[in-house]
Amino acid sequence: MDMSLFPRRRLAHLPTPLEPMPRLSAHLGGPQLFVKRDDCTGLAGGGNKTRKLEFLIADALADGADTVITAGSVQSNHARQTAAAAAHCGLRCELVLPRFVPWEGPGYEVVGNVLLDRLLGAEVHLLPADTDRDAAMARVAEKARVRGARPYVIPVGGSNALGALGYVECAAELLRQAADLGIAIDALVTASGSGGTQAGLVVGCQRLAADFPVIGMCDAAPAQELAETVRALVAALGELLGGSRDIDWGRVEFLDAYAGAGYGLPTDAMVEAVTLAARLEGLLLDPVYTGKALAGLIDLVRRGRFRGDDTVVFVHTGGAAALDAYAGVFAGGGV
Ligand SMILES: *Cc1c(COP(=O)(O)O)cnc(C)c1O
Repeated sequence: MDMSLFPRRRLAHLPTPLEPMPRLSAHLGGPQLFVKRDDCTGLAGGGNKTRKLEFLIADALADGADTVITAGSVQSNHARQTAAAAAHCGLRCELVLPRFVPWEGPGYEVVGNVLLDRLLGAEVHLLPADTDRDAAMARVAEKARVRGARPYVIPVGGSNALGALGYVECAAELLRQAADLGIAIDALVTASGSGGTQAGLVVGCQRLAADFPVIGMCDAAPAQELAETVRALVAALGELLGGSRDIDWGRVEFLDAYAGAGYGLPTDAMVEAVTLAARLEGLLLDPVYTGKALAGLIDLVRRGRFRGDDTVVFVHTGGAAALDAYAGVFAGGGV
């Protein structure tokens, strides 16, 4: 895989660490758990969108854009990282954020990611819950064009083939680190939402002949829907990268049992997972993605999915900036 063919604007602190989680592993009495620290990508709080934005922002700059537009939930980590990337590169940023998460936590529209969006200079459009995000981004782009600007629209989650390249690269980085540490990975677990992270990891791992499963924990969508999204992204990545396109789908899993009542809505298991990671490893997860994903991994461990001498890597995709928007849920507050 020659990634140097694709223009890239460096934004992330790489490589991110690959670290053991010995106290969490001992507490669960299960496999050896490691964490790939993509919460440490460094851009205004970091997270998985920064790797994608290296390719997307490079494309925007090559396009001559002076404005980037993207969309997400009110507490979108992707929106915050896009706002930071834009500020860093001297681009204007407009964010389309429909209020579709039925969460009434105090400060939900004021603190956390949306506070940072505003601080980073983005123009925030808080829109009604049922707003079609793609149509709304097209309208914002049209208005920008009328003003004489040159907008570039980044899809929700930065999840197109170009963005997913960031996670093809991450897979290569992870496999190098595992080799350096002398560990053999038996499973890789990631939160999965718009699908670009999981699609990139699947393509990167399989092209480098890694034979472990890549398990995606759905943030909301039914497993079937996420599977279709990831399949489409994997196909698009195949087009972009060329070469061998055979994917063993038997080694790609989609689990939707841990999403609870819906996107952005807390679950008891998420609260337990976030609390365990904090108290046993000093690690800050998030309420929307990584908390639910670790809750899923903990459940798999408790159900005996892994052997004691297995090595399982959890991808920490970031998101702790949203914790404040869920104050009251943690530290004994309950759901
Ligand atoms: C966006 C996001 C995800 C999901 O990544 P996708 O590539 O959209 O599937 C996971 N974790 C966090 C913290 C995120 O912000």
